[in-house]
Amino acid sequence: MVAEIISVGTEILLGDIINTNAQYIAKKLSHIGIEVYYQTVVGDNYDRLKGALNVAFDRSDIVVLSGGLGPTKDDLTKELVADYFGKELVFNQKVYDNVEKRGFEFGLKVISESIKKQAYVPKDALIVHNEWGTAPGIILAKDGKAALMLPGPPSEMEPLFDQCCELFLNKLSNQVFVSMNLRLKGPKEAPGSEIGEAPVADKISAFLDYTNPTVATYAKPDGCIIRVTANAPTREEALERILPVIRDLTDILAPVIKEVYES
Ligand code: ATP
Ligand code: MG
Repeated sequence: MVAEIISVGTEILLGDIINTNAQYIAKKLSHIGIEVYYQTVVGDNYDRLKGALNVAFDRSDIVVLSGGLGPTKDDLTKELVADYFGKELVFNQKVYDNVEKRGFEFGLKVISESIKKQAYVPKDALIVHNEWGTAPGIILAKDGKAALMLPGPPSEMEPLFDQCCELFLNKLSNQVFVSMNLRLKGPKEAPGSEIGEAPVADKISAFLDYTNPTVATYAKPDGCIIRVTANAPTREEALERILPVIRDLTDILAPVIKEVYES
């Protein structure tokens, strides 16, 4: 299963914005065991985006696109991908309701045709509704090829891409994911100890660079959590990766660990 990423937007080509979307997507794809062989940046241009799509689908099974899903004329991603898959665009009432609600909240008096354009989605696509903005995430799959389309703003792209992984990509990868967590004591249980997220992250900073398993810290009101996540073909192999890291972390943090649990 080979994937590639197309970041759509003239702003990226001009160097006006940094392509953090590609970084986010690439990292997540590699964590779930889907290989990424190419990344492309292309401007908001009909012919060049069409060319980039043809090239991408000739060599990859999955193409993840970000940007170009908005209401303006230069937002072309959905139209071109639908064309590539031979699908027409159909009106989706649930997407429209969200677009309309956000438009009115934003202070619009009428919903213009261009804004309404965002409620048209390719026929037979899987829609990931956007709680953070207007344009939904769209998954279109046919004959072993899949396109995942995501809006450009990272605050929308990131949660929508995570949902696309849950809905679609995880099933394609023959890997299982296992997470073990260390819950640390809270400020009431261990007064005076360095148990906030920042000092804990400092103490275990070398672990935070691991890739499989990954190690991440999360601040919670009742105490910090350290999550160790591995992927492997089987649960046993994932645990084989995780347990030595849990042991090493326990050696460092033993006095302030409250519990260890799987999630
Ligand atoms: P919109 O409805 O906001 O127009 P869109 O899906 O059409 O969304 P773009 O118009 O391509 O997306 O980009 C909107 C904004 O999202 C950009 O101005 C930029 O701030 C951000 N953005 C777009 N692409 C990227 C990217 N690859 N990396 C980081 N930020 C990006
Ligand atoms: Mg746009």
